[in-house]
Amino acid sequence: MAGETVLVVEDNPINLKLVSATLSHDGYVVCSAANASEALAFLARQRPALILMDLHLPGMSGLELTRQLRADPATRDLLIVAVTAAAMKGDEERARAAGCDGYLTKPIDVRSFGATIAGFLSRGRGVARG
Ligand code: MN
Repeated sequence: MAGETVLVVEDNPINLKLVSATLSHDGYVVCSAANASEALAFLARQRPALILMDLHLPGMSGLELTRQLRADPATRDLLIVAVTAAAMKGDEERARAAGCDGYLTKPIDVRSFGATIAGFLSRGRGVARG
């Protein structure tokens, strides 16, 4: 829903710009983190409606960060959707096993991305499908 906050965890500035512009255009409040520590610092202050989690980050990976968030009562209920460029067999299963609610592959389709995100937000945790 427009006005909801989406945290984009993404280390690639070009991908971040594309995703941010698309979500902003649809009325979301977009915040970003370039790595796990920036994401954790953000989440200590704010609770986004959804996290778009790049799985390949410098330092702690998106999978590790997701596991850490799921292990913490303060963050375990957050809606987390994995995003990955180099999709390989088993990636989606690994993302779901780590606690991701959904899975998207890059490059994103800018025409349908807003509707995809709205779908995750309306379905909520556990039943979201990418
Ligand atoms: Mn990356």
